Amino acid sequence: MDNPTHFGYQQVDESEKARKVEGVFTSVAQRYDVMNDLMSGGLHRLWKKFTIEQSYVRPGQRVLDVAGGTADLSRAFAKRVGQTGSVVLTDINAAMLGIGRDRLLDDGVLAPAVQCDAEKLPFVSNHFDCVCVAFGLRNMTHKDAALAEMFRVLRPGGRLLVLEFSRVWKPLAGAYDAYSFKVLPKMGDIITKDADSYRYLAESIRMHPDQETLKQMLVDAGLERVEYFNLAAGVVALHRGYKF
Ligand code: SAM
Repeated sequence: MDNPTHFGYQQVDESEKARKVEGVFTSVAQRYDVMNDLMSGGLHRLWKKFTIEQSYVRPGQRVLDVAGGTADLSRAFAKRVGQTGSVVLTDINAAMLGIGRDRLLDDGVLAPAVQCDAEKLPFVSNHFDCVCVAFGLRNMTHKDAALAEMFRVLRPGGRLLVLEFSRVWKPLAGAYDAYSFKVLPKMGDIITKDADSYRYLAESIRMHPDQETLKQMLVDAGLERVEYFNLAAGVVALHRGYKF
């Protein structure tokens, strides 16, 4: 293997990881939203609402939703920025992006949907007031490259928000593991006929950097005043940093 990386608990070559991640999201796209509600008991809606609140996005601002998938955040940001602002939805996966674009259109929102890799964003530097990535960073092969790109396209004074699974409070780890490795794949099997993708979800969460490590990664990417908020006892964390 030339450049080993991880895909959940498996060791794969870097070139293979993106293909495998693509397979996961193409497989679950049609049932992605219903699975999110079921798996989190609806909590993902609150986590996303909190993210929008912590963005301090105002009317007229420019927002980039990276790995935006079915567009939950883009739709909420579109309401915030109003007619004078703009939201760009991006994702590497055509199936997820197609659903996101349709949901934006159903809301009457005219927002560009751009298929692109977060590690090579096709946008000019110093442009967006806010860049957000929700539950996407975990799946990226070169997280540092993706963070560097998000930093590049932010304008000075702009902020980056990273909503992602994180390290749960230790006393709850046993119960959380049982839920993740026993219940989730079963649910995935029943709803999407794909237990493996939800096994990957549980594994990829364990392989993702914890709160403090991700905070340092944001600092290394150039972000300042970096802080994070634990949600649901650290099941999820929202990191926020500014570009000055
Ligand atoms: N942000 C949405 C949400 O919170 O519901 C979707 C999150 S979904 C769990 C993760 C998304 O990341 C998928 O749509 C996947 O295609 C996308 N993704 C994975 N790797 C990516 C990459 N390198 N660049 C852009 N998007 C990527």
